[in-house]
Amino acid sequence: MSDNQKVTIIGSGPAGWTAAIYAARANLKPVVLAGDGLSRERMPGGQLMFTTEVENYPGFEHGIDGQKMMSVMQQQAMRFGAVVKSSFVSRVDLSSRPFKIWHADELNGDGEEMLVSESVIICTGAAANYLGLETERKYENNGVSACAVCDGALPRFRGKPVVVVGGGDSAVEEATYLTKFASEVYLVHRRDALRASKIMAQRALTNPRIRPVWNSAVVEVLGSDELGVTGVRIKDIPSGKNYELECSGMFAAIGHTPNTAFLQGQIELDEKKYVVLKDRFRSMTSVEGVFAAGDCADSVYRQAITAAGMGCKAAIDAERWLAETGIH
Ligand code: NAP
Repeated sequence: MSDNQKVTIIGSGPAGWTAAIYAARANLKPVVLAGDGLSRERMPGGQLMFTTEVENYPGFEHGIDGQKMMSVMQQQAMRFGAVVKSSFVSRVDLSSRPFKIWHADELNGDGEEMLVSESVIICTGAAANYLGLETERKYENNGVSACAVCDGALPRFRGKPVVVVGGGDSAVEEATYLTKFASEVYLVHRRDALRASKIMAQRALTNPRIRPVWNSAVVEVLGSDELGVTGVRIKDIPSGKNYELECSGMFAAIGHTPNTAFLQGQIELDEKKYVVLKDRFRSMTSVEGVFAAGDCADSVYRQAITAAGMGCKAAIDAERWLAETGIH
């Protein structure tokens, strides 16, 4: 048996914490490199740290604050012996075993250290793409969202118009979902045709509550600190003219970017940079001993509960693989 670290978990959203709970309970003494908080993508706790209310995670009848949820998951992992470091992984060497992981806590000025590990579970998540407007950031969680399933049922959107930006499957799915709550959904797209699959596009375009706004871009989110979003300023691209559209919220549905840049050239990523999982162990990547879970390996579901489920699978797979190879 080697003295190296058995399991290192990179990332600390629901996938990372769940993997840590399972690995710790399997006596693997996992280290979690949770992120150093220097930017949004490096935040310990991940995307849920920017969500106020999580209403769809089973077990919380009245919902739970996203930050609280991540803190409780962390405590649960630590109770079983997981070691948590607030550091960010900048590079890895997965070309031979044991694997090498370089991490640092830049926020607190702690320099780079190298960790040697027999197995790795990657749980670095994905970041929703936003339009990049200053006013969009200002009203986040106050009418601006990138997840209809997470936020659509909130009282502020009920019976009021909302805007969805984008023209892909996510945009039509989000728009369709929001028709359950909103009085109407303006689907603002920069071109005159959707990129979404035919069947989903057709469903959205025949829904009387969805109003496409073609060849248009949101150039400003309007509102106040007290009311949050009250409208958006839209630019009609062909004429260049701007006008205001009243709405209670804006949902950006213009894609996600998985946080996998540091894995480029190390493991197989798909064309959109999501980690590719292999069949033998369902959470194993193209490199034996390297597993992945959560949004960095899932462009479809992207929910806290599905990420947690994947984290559980990855820890069980890592434990079995370590046993099979005689490392643990
Ligand atoms: P996507 O297919 O990449 O579509 C992104 C959309 O956002 C495009 O319409 C794009 O416009 C628009 N866009 C990108 N940047 C923009 C910007 N800065 N300003 C305005 N608009 C912008 O992303 P997605 O819809 O999230 O889908 C990702 C993948 O998941 C796809 O493979 C999709 O099929 C899959 N998915 C499947 C389902 C399902 O089957 N139920 C549901 C969701 C997602 P252009 O069209 O002009 O490029």
